Amino acid sequence: MNKHLAIILIGFGFWSCQKQAEIQSIEWRFGQSGENLQKISSLELFEKPSVIFYKNDRIEFNQQSLKNQLVETSYVKKVYASNELKSAEAVFIEPRSVKVLNAKPATRNEKRFVTKVSHEVAPLYLRNYNSENVLKLHKGVLKDFQALHYELNDGTLWKAYFSGQRLVSIEKQGSQFNEFTAQVYPLGPKHSDLTEVLLKGLQLNTSVSNQYVLVDSESSQKMTSVLPHLKFDPKDERFDQVQVFYYLDYIQTWMRENLSVRFPEKLNAVVDVGYPDKTNTAFYFQNKIRFGRGDDVDYGMLASDPSIVYHESFHALIDGMARLPFEKEGGSLNEGFADFFTCVVLNRPFLGETAYLKGPFKRTIQANIRLSEKTGGLYHDSQILSSLLWEIKEKLGKEKSLKLATDTLSKLNPNSDFNHFNSQIIEVIKLMPAKDQEIVNPILASRGFNYE
Ligand SMILES: [Zn+2]
Repeated sequence: MNKHLAIILIGFGFWSCQKQAEIQSIEWRFGQSGENLQKISSLELFEKPSVIFYKNDRIEFNQQSLKNQLVETSYVKKVYASNELKSAEAVFIEPRSVKVLNAKPATRNEKRFVTKVSHEVAPLYLRNYNSENVLKLHKGVLKDFQALHYELNDGTLWKAYFSGQRLVSIEKQGSQFNEFTAQVYPLGPKHSDLTEVLLKGLQLNTSVSNQYVLVDSESSQKMTSVLPHLKFDPKDERFDQVQVFYYLDYIQTWMRENLSVRFPEKLNAVVDVGYPDKTNTAFYFQNKIRFGRGDDVDYGMLASDPSIVYHESFHALIDGMARLPFEKEGGSLNEGFADFFTCVVLNRPFLGETAYLKGPFKRTIQANIRLSEKTGGLYHDSQILSSLLWEIKEKLGKEKSLKLATDTLSKLNPNSDFNHFNSQIIEVIKLMPAKDQEIVNPILASRGFNYE
């Protein structure tokens, strides 16, 4: 997680009181008896109301004040028609229910404290801040809080509530505009056109993120939170960031729905690695995927190739389930699983169809390579596994073959080799219905694997 910590130093005294509050909600309409109106009118209000005019009406909003402290959860709404009160409503704390307010006033600068506030905003610093004492309902209890209003350097406004020196919550202020129209290649530039899509739940800083995925860029073109949309030309460096975000968000959803896999942490990626150089970088390491732009000799538009982005994201899945290594036989298993899952998602047995410039694709998993034909070559040997799984998928169907592959993967470990894989897939096959075993076992046999 790209969490940046800021240290806020503010000084003020604190005091606290806890009381069971009685929240009331009442309303009054013109023509009704005046009892409720009287109650609403007797409330102590906080400064001036906000006012807006709608047709002939004047609508006022205000909040309750108790002993000069704002009651956060309260509101008082009054509607006037031609200066005559038409309706009034209020949600407020019954003043009499607050028996004793701590009489000791907050003596500012009495205490200084240090607290940490974390935001996924980089670089983070406070531009402006001010604080006030408020009364707020917290878990059913009316409590005193110190509310700190502050602005970050990206222009977003926040409010942090402290109880004494303890940070209780942080809330983002203002309207949340987190839907963006973007343009991407849903299936890559070879198999789809640039298409407008709606990305929801986005956070934009220099990165593009949602609750599952965060994509950064090393390019000099930075994303900002004030962009009206994310429709970039594919030549624009920011395009890669949006495209990779789209793919990773898609594939994480796919993994949740098809493999029942959930990642507790956001998957991180960075594009334009090596900027301004155009690199052929594409790899996964420790929860982060790195993509270059492609050198336009061997690879072009690396980040737009779904098979490459999906392949790298499956390394994250494999890492979490089996922590297979990246070299030797375990490395070939790692690559074979990543290729197999990728090809199932795309429903095509080819890797690198879009980005690889020296042929129609970089690898195919539609092959017939027997276990005994191992050469020690990382990708050559990965095809022994990926093509085995692909043939099983062709004959057994997508759902069952995905389950077989994922169940087997979950039994592997950093020391696994082809022998261990073979013993574990046998264990999983034994739990399958007999008619499915009759489909899978001959495939294993024909490729030189053991079976029962
Ligand atoms: Zn790989």
